[in-house]
Amino acid sequence: MTSSASSPSTSDKAVNSQRVQWHATDIGEVRSELSATGPLSAQAVGERLSEFGHNRLPEARRRGPLARLGNQLKNFLIYVLITAAVITAVLGHWVDTTVILAVVVIQTLVGFIQEGKAEQALSAIRHMLAPKAVVVREDGQKKIDAAELVPGDTVILEPGDRVPADLRLERCHNLKIEEAVLTGESEPVDKTTGSQPADAVLGDQLSMAFSGTMVATGTGRGVVVRTGENTEIGRISGLLQDTATLKTPLLEQIDRFARYLSIIIIVVGLAIFGGGLALSGLPVRELFMAVVGLTVAAIPEGLPAILTITLAIGVRRMATRHAVVRRMPVIETLGAVSVICSDKTGTLTRNEMMVTAAVMAGKRLDVEGEGYEPDGEIREGSDVVSESPLLDELARAAALCNDAHLERHEGTIRVAGDPMEGALKVFAQKAGFDAETDGREWPRTDEVPFDADYRFMATLNHDHHRHGVVYVKGAPERILEMCTGMVTDSGDTSSLDREAWTDAISELASEGLRVLALARRPADSSQNTLAVEDVEDGLELLGLVGLLDPPRQEAIQAIQDCHDAGIRVKMITGDHAMTASAIGARLGLKNTTRVMTGRELDQLGEDELRQVAGEVDIFARTSPEHKLRLVEALQALHGVVAMTGDGVNDAPALKRADVGIAMGVKGSEAAREAASMVLLDDNFASIARAVREGRTVYNNLKKAIAFMLPINGGESVSLITALLLGLSLPISALQILWVNLVGSVILAMTLAFEPSEPGVMRRPPRSRDEPLLAGFVVWRVAFVSVLFLIGIFAAWYWAMDQFSDESVARTLAVNTLVAMEVFYLFAVRYLDTASVTLRGVLGTPIVLLAVGAVILLQLLFTYLPFFHQIFGTAPLTLGALVFAGAAGVVVLLVLELETWLRKRLKPGLSSGSG
Ligand code: ATP
Repeated sequence: MTSSASSPSTSDKAVNSQRVQWHATDIGEVRSELSATGPLSAQAVGERLSEFGHNRLPEARRRGPLARLGNQLKNFLIYVLITAAVITAVLGHWVDTTVILAVVVIQTLVGFIQEGKAEQALSAIRHMLAPKAVVVREDGQKKIDAAELVPGDTVILEPGDRVPADLRLERCHNLKIEEAVLTGESEPVDKTTGSQPADAVLGDQLSMAFSGTMVATGTGRGVVVRTGENTEIGRISGLLQDTATLKTPLLEQIDRFARYLSIIIIVVGLAIFGGGLALSGLPVRELFMAVVGLTVAAIPEGLPAILTITLAIGVRRMATRHAVVRRMPVIETLGAVSVICSDKTGTLTRNEMMVTAAVMAGKRLDVEGEGYEPDGEIREGSDVVSESPLLDELARAAALCNDAHLERHEGTIRVAGDPMEGALKVFAQKAGFDAETDGREWPRTDEVPFDADYRFMATLNHDHHRHGVVYVKGAPERILEMCTGMVTDSGDTSSLDREAWTDAISELASEGLRVLALARRPADSSQNTLAVEDVEDGLELLGLVGLLDPPRQEAIQAIQDCHDAGIRVKMITGDHAMTASAIGARLGLKNTTRVMTGRELDQLGEDELRQVAGEVDIFARTSPEHKLRLVEALQALHGVVAMTGDGVNDAPALKRADVGIAMGVKGSEAAREAASMVLLDDNFASIARAVREGRTVYNNLKKAIAFMLPINGGESVSLITALLLGLSLPISALQILWVNLVGSVILAMTLAFEPSEPGVMRRPPRSRDEPLLAGFVVWRVAFVSVLFLIGIFAAWYWAMDQFSDESVARTLAVNTLVAMEVFYLFAVRYLDTASVTLRGVLGTPIVLLAVGAVILLQLLFTYLPFFHQIFGTAPLTLGALVFAGAAGVVVLLVLELETWLRKRLKPGLSSGSG
């Protein structure tokens, strides 16, 4: 392996045969060859990357541009238009045919471009969610994109990780891996490091961890032996499944609505055509074009495309604010969130920890210093503690029972691993124990990894003379239960005053410090393994440490914003009740006097739990199962619940929550996969921003619907009225095509870019089951359709009265309709507040740009002879243009009046905050 990997000249054939060989040989031998190289250097990684390629499965082929273009043609409106084009061509009306075909082309292109934009947004997200792996290389342990792994890399596995490549395991601690994706076996498989025969079937290869499988419990370490498509999963599936689409329940609802409406319209159209032929004396061509006009007028085919792009833009906006949406329907749900349950550490707090206090043998010590810098005194009162065997032992325990690494990077110290453990290493250093040098004297023989369910971690260490010791650190009340004695100042063992220690724990916790206890137990030189049972009893307590983890400043503001928006924020933490309460108070949570612990929750029945879940805001010493119960209780109280999580055991609660939010930085792959949203920065403030964005997107969807439907409504009611009353059509079929392209598409597109309304986070969340096509929107659509109908006929009759020319009257009717649309756009941008404000009039640049474009196009439509020929239009006088503009102003004023009246009549009434 080494020789082939380091010689870039190796031919493809040789590489392939090498790969085949890996599969066939006893992987154990390959492993020894691989690990003989030690951690890889950047150069070796580079060479192997170019030789073996990135560790990725080939992506399922994306739809090419042609397929996407073809998809546009599957639109119902396009069928109608193509039929109309064929019939007009047969009838020899070439101008009509050309215009209709031009419309087909434009409609297809617009849809094509919009869909392209939506796909771009999705693929950007896919990139952000790329799987990660923790690797040990020459420059230390770090988290990298799993795609960058090469054969020979050493990878660390933790619970909830997806195995990033095929690994030969070289260390396992209770490692169990779920291999259902490969073998169909649902029980997690116990892994070992022993060698297996080369012909063992997949499920029996216990010393291998296969790419794509999931670590259920325990930890491990292994060397990459196969990457990318050479992995077992690569051989089976060969392709990365990619199911992301922009479909949400709302979009499906609208799609269905558009389809049913289309069918109804076609039936009505055919009826009118048949009835007209039989009853009215209208010529076939005119009747046919009227029916085409009606069909085109009434079908809101552009709507799904506009909604898709609105969602895509929302998704992109959220991603720039560090919230990546994994399941599209969640964008709609976000706006309705009424309860957010958040973890504490790292989400509400900074997770930049520092040990500031320690208690040992009844003495309180204060630790000075800044961040992870190792400078700082340890004092008892004002005296610096210099000689203390007990402090030395406490420091040794803190440094050895620890998996973090401190690395100096461009002048600052970085922690690879858990920041809390990083802080403990710094503390040890301040006390004079250097983990890198002194630690080498005490190599680790075995360990019990930390588990949130039992809340401690233990290591077994032996020095070079085989003196053994077990160190344990964890939640203090848990460790206290496991201790039978304590170590005194002089290093002897004495009996334990539990009460005094409990008081000391409370004192540190009430200062908002996270408290850990450290304990030890001697071990035999012959002991080689460590199990939970070995440490559950008979420990000697060394002392307590208190760690400061200050609240995030921006989280305090975000919690306030959530409260203003009618959203209750709850903290669910694994930490001590008093620490949680002190931090909760600093964060500004509502109820910080009553804290519920996981143990208390266990005592409650379903009904009591519901009551408590509603009232209490701080839940401490909880385990992941409590999260699931709390989500269910809050949902039973009609809450729309957002829940954060990071561990593998958080997955059920994340799935159950209406909005499951995983932590992108410290979260496990299992949590990310169960979640509907991933926070790239683990920051609570990003949740509040995502809710705001969710509300905005929902409002914009509502605005797009409220804008588009009345245009279709107004046009089709006008045509039906004219046909039924035997009047001349106030707008011709071709003109309707024009209006729909100019009016609907250009103007409605701008709604997708609307920023949040100013009061969007000062309204209560909308109810979960509020349908979009109901209440206010239905009323608005009907009301505005009638306004448009009146405007169109008013323009027609006024122009006929003034100029006695049908072409002029139709041109004015079209201009009036477009002017009304433009003014209506301003009204629709603010659903609940007045639109005639400076901000409303100035609008966003894109709105002004769109309005400018529409005005320009209308001028061409009205004054360019070329358009006269095509659309049968005629130039208008200035007075007529003023009429059109005035009609628009009237629509805006009537809608302002309507908003005002609505608010006055029913002060609590709002269109919903989205
Ligand atoms: P949150 O749930 O808000 O993120 P948390 O990080 O405190 O809070 P857990 O990770 O479940 O929640 O930790 C629970 C408790 O277990 C901690 O309060 C601490 O006492 C103990 N603990 C956490 N990490 C370790 C560790 N690496 N080693 C030993 N004990 C730990």
